[in-house]
Amino acid sequence: MGVFEAIGTESHEEVLFGVDHESGLRTIIAIHNTSLGPALGGTRFYPYPDEEAALRDVLRLSKGMTLKSAAAGLDLGGGKAVIIGDPATLRSEELIRAYGRVVDSLGGRYVTAADVGTTTDDMVLISEETPWVSGLPFSQGGSGDPSPATARGVMASFRAIGERLWRSTDLAGRRVAVQGVGKVGMDLVRRLTEVGAETVVADAEADSVAHAIETYGSTKVSVDEIYDVECDIFSPCALGATLNEETISRLRCVAIAGCANNQLAVDSDIERIVERGILYAPDFVVNAGGVINIAAETGGYSAERAGEMVDRIHDNLVTVFETADIDGVDTHDAAVRFAQRRIDQAGGSRHR
Ligand code: NAD
Repeated sequence: MGVFEAIGTESHEEVLFGVDHESGLRTIIAIHNTSLGPALGGTRFYPYPDEEAALRDVLRLSKGMTLKSAAAGLDLGGGKAVIIGDPATLRSEELIRAYGRVVDSLGGRYVTAADVGTTTDDMVLISEETPWVSGLPFSQGGSGDPSPATARGVMASFRAIGERLWRSTDLAGRRVAVQGVGKVGMDLVRRLTEVGAETVVADAEADSVAHAIETYGSTKVSVDEIYDVECDIFSPCALGATLNEETISRLRCVAIAGCANNQLAVDSDIERIVERGILYAPDFVVNAGGVINIAAETGGYSAERAGEMVDRIHDNLVTVFETADIDGVDTHDAAVRFAQRRIDQAGGSRHR
């Protein structure tokens, strides 16, 4: 893939390739758009099969961050970073510090955070090399693990769905199929149980399923059967791209809303969902709780204030549904329009 061609196709502002020969660091940082503010996005440390796969991933993910922050009403742009390699064997203090210096070289146009393969401990090390890092532990004045905030945001989405479909935000007695009970999915099950909803769960990890059954009284199904569960809401909380031609045809839900990124295998899968008469709550609107929680670090983190900010995901989703009605488009398209409107209003790159 030609690098400039790849960057141009997705309209990125800047892509930085960083190396540190001593530690073996190979990183790509993609700044997609800074119209609304500095580009915020996590660092993914992953054993990509080749550089092209890493570049494709960082370009795609950074663009997603632009839409997510814009739709969440944050004054932040979109960025993302990847470190190429297996964190289990390549991670070292030298490498993480060298990476922190690459982030620092961007002078604040990119602000990093933890993502797949990186931890809050890594962020602490990075903070010794650059101030442009977020998602530090509570003990360091940061916002800690974003997962509970993400789950809180998914609950706010469920209330918006309830209003639209059932004219009620009350989820008591509703049945939710949760695909993946990891950090976010498990906290979502906890919150659903608290409000009297019934949960059906599936996870590749038997221990996680057992925990959901014992602690929250969930019902279990296999990872394949989760698509066939008769429920009010199907909630993808595992990996991305689980909604495809085959799985969408099997769904027996009224709505879809979950925390996983990039839930649609291809964009046109939204048409299949619409044809099935299922209400789709776009992933990047629903799962913004984590980034909102990080944004709440600005001016000093307060869990209460962050929670109130996360709850506004309800209002954002209501606006997306209204935009879909007014513009006569599907909800995914409406969410992109909603986010793009804010970016266009900001009028061009600010943080260069
Ligand atoms: P996690 O790794 O803690 O949990 C994922 C869970 O999915 C694991 O328990 C795993 O065993 C399970 N799983 C994997 N394949 C599965 C399958 N085929 N069927 C059922 N379960 C399966 O991750 P997480 O932090 O809970 O994030 C979940 C999703 O939400 C990811 O896609 C992530 O990118 C996205 N997300 C997370 C956050 C956050 O704050 N953690 C924020 C935004 C988006």
